[in-house]
Amino acid sequence: MIPYGHQWIDDDDVDAVVEVLRGDWLTQGPSVPAFENAVAEYCGAKHAVAVSSGTAALHLACLAMDLGEDDLLWTSPNSFAASANCARYCGADVDFVDIDPVDYNMSVAMLEAKLERAQADGRSPRVLIPVHHSGRSCDMRAIAALARRHGIAVIEDACHALGGTYEDQPVGSCAWSDMAVLSFHPVKSITTGEGGMVLTNDDHLAGRLRLLRSHGITRDPSLMENEGTSAHYYEQIELGYNYRLTDIQAALGISQMRRLDMFVEKRRGLARRYGERLTDLPLRMPLADPDDRSSWHLYSVRLGAEAPITRDEAVRRLTAAGIGTSLHYVPIHLHPYYRRLGFKPGDFPEAERYAREALTLPLFPTLSHDEQDQVISALSDVLGG
Ligand SMILES: *Cc1c(COP(=O)(O)O)cnc(C)c1O
Repeated sequence: MIPYGHQWIDDDDVDAVVEVLRGDWLTQGPSVPAFENAVAEYCGAKHAVAVSSGTAALHLACLAMDLGEDDLLWTSPNSFAASANCARYCGADVDFVDIDPVDYNMSVAMLEAKLERAQADGRSPRVLIPVHHSGRSCDMRAIAALARRHGIAVIEDACHALGGTYEDQPVGSCAWSDMAVLSFHPVKSITTGEGGMVLTNDDHLAGRLRLLRSHGITRDPSLMENEGTSAHYYEQIELGYNYRLTDIQAALGISQMRRLDMFVEKRRGLARRYGERLTDLPLRMPLADPDDRSSWHLYSVRLGAEAPITRDEAVRRLTAAGIGTSLHYVPIHLHPYYRRLGFKPGDFPEAERYAREALTLPLFPTLSHDEQDQVISALSDVLGG
């Protein structure tokens, strides 16, 4: 079976992890800040705070903004549930902005209209989470302008997009946002097994993120309420979590970062190859990326009215042919948990149409041209080519 995504671990990665295992620090050692520095430097952000997952990164980013009950967070329905769950962890309400029918990211036009209605109704969101679907950045300049006009914080869900660019800046630079969130799950641009990171240029937010990542405990006398008598004195000044990344994982992350550009180049080459070889099939290809801006986390095609069979039938036949595919995504608002909060089919029709037609094909740096040709010929057979 050819999977839709897969990590690439080489001997250098293994050696880097083994070195940590043989050393003194399995956690809270020097590898974590070294990994943070490598990612911050790559992305051009001032601060990077490593955490145990992308989901933890989203949660901490919301907590750092003091998101709480009575607050509202908006995100894209065409994402992994974690993009919305982070608001619920903080007791805040969630709403969604439907997607653009061309690039499948949050629609800026719909965002603008919805923000105006919300302002008139006196129920504006505090935080907006645009998601860079499949590795293609949202139009951050336009989103930042709207957010500024309405006084809203922006957290980029950049879990797909490490290695991509927007306006010639690396995704994660936070030039148009308060924070950006990464995931290092094995299917993402680089992996640490589980892992995540929050990037920011804001000193205050970085301090809050570091505090909340480790129980809300500080050893910094300037933050303490009482005077300690011993050098071992510490205070818990807020309710934080243990969301730390281990040094074992960080060592893997540092080693993976050295190959990030090569990983993304491989993905781009494979995406171009799909683009050239799928043109005659009755399906819709993703938007082309002539300037190589996307990190190509996903290569998702659409099987709509032009296709001779349904997407679900295509999935069955491709699986039988040994081709792994996936769906990105079940619209968040249609999960039973969100339906219980009042969302229903028809609320975000573009995301729902996309979810009925979308099919994610195998795309990962070690996918060989031979394997990719198997995917293309199986898809061609299935679609009666
Ligand atoms: C992977 C992912 C997450 C969650 O990251 P984890 O590291 O799996 O917790 C959040 N949002 C998006 C868009 C993702 O793809």
